[in-house]
Amino acid sequence: MASVLIIAEHREGKILAATYSALTCGKQIADANGLSLEVALLGKGVEGLAADLAARSVAKVHVVEHDALEHGLSEHMAKAVADLANATDATWIGAASTVQGRDYLPRVAARLDAGMATNVVAVDGNKLTRPMWADAVMAEVEITTAKKVFTCRPTEFEPIAEGGSAEVAKFDVELDAGAAKVTFAGLELVKSERPALTEANVVVAGGRGTKGDFGIIEALADELGAAIGSTRAVVDAGWAPNEYQIGQTGKVVAPDLYIGAGISGAIQHLAGMKGSKVIVAINKDEEAPIFQVADYGLVADLFKAIPELIEEIKKAKA
Ligand SMILES: Cc1cc2nc3c(=O)[nH]c(=O)nc-3n(C[C@H](O)[C@H](O)[C@H](O)COP(=O)(O)OP(=O)(O)OC[C@H]3O[C@@H](n4cnc5c(N)ncnc54)[C@H](O)[C@@H]3O)c2cc1C
Repeated sequence: MASVLIIAEHREGKILAATYSALTCGKQIADANGLSLEVALLGKGVEGLAADLAARSVAKVHVVEHDALEHGLSEHMAKAVADLANATDATWIGAASTVQGRDYLPRVAARLDAGMATNVVAVDGNKLTRPMWADAVMAEVEITTAKKVFTCRPTEFEPIAEGGSAEVAKFDVELDAGAAKVTFAGLELVKSERPALTEANVVVAGGRGTKGDFGIIEALADELGAAIGSTRAVVDAGWAPNEYQIGQTGKVVAPDLYIGAGISGAIQHLAGMKGSKVIVAINKDEEAPIFQVADYGLVADLFKAIPELIEEIKKAKA
């Protein structure tokens, strides 16, 4: 039976939450088009993770093990996914719009001669909604090729429900690790005591208005158990590490509460946070564009307002 095939993403022995959201997106496409929902797990020594996926309301889990897939390099991933898609009659092939998904899926599309839609935020039958021009426009698109490739924005889809016990099948793939034009040099994962930015319920973000003093942002984040984010301007200035960047060229976040301090609200930043449930903006310029998307706006100097806010939160907690 033709299927929607979602490629799972995993790290350090765990399926990433973004995969469960991608499965929900895949399920909506499958249900609307009368297809089965299947999931693929690629890597080396990953078979142990199949049970997790098999319990997620999917019809089948494909496990593709190969030494060359150990580090998820896109050359090998693309060939393995394309071979699997052809062998299983998958008509829709998708994954979460993460760094990895965005890396290898265009290659999959090229191998399958397929049209591709990235960053899907909503599904209506076989029509997909995706942002264009830095989220300034929401476009409804239809992929007209026989095979269709897509990535979906994880923050727009709830994680798929648990339940079921799908069949787990192995798929053998031929890969020539020696022929790769790219080799794996190393992976440096940033370890933090704070919640991961894309999964946090609360995000406190600082912009150029902080003048590089992220201590004040950290203090508020500590009080709220929040992740820290920033604008690109702050990263470009070297005031915050790259992984803090929220926006068009950064991470997409959709926490319950986003607090942006000293952030102008340029469209490229809004692209990454405007899906947040409650947006609080602190900016001393009442004309700052961020106030147009904010649920609560405070026209104030952040160096005065944030310490006061911290004091009030402490009092409320006491
Ligand atoms: C292709 C492209 C991709 C981009 N991608 C991204 C992206 O992913 N993410 C991103 O963020 N940007 C991105 N940008 C950059 C974006 O256009 C803006 O330049 C950037 O977001 C501005 O950051 P900012 O709000 O920190 O700085 P500014 O625009 O300088 O704003 C600082 C704000 O702080 C306020 N302020 C100053 N002092 C205080 C104070 N004491 N108290 C309170 N408020 C104060 C000011 O009123 C001002 O509104 C991209 C740009 C391009 C061209």
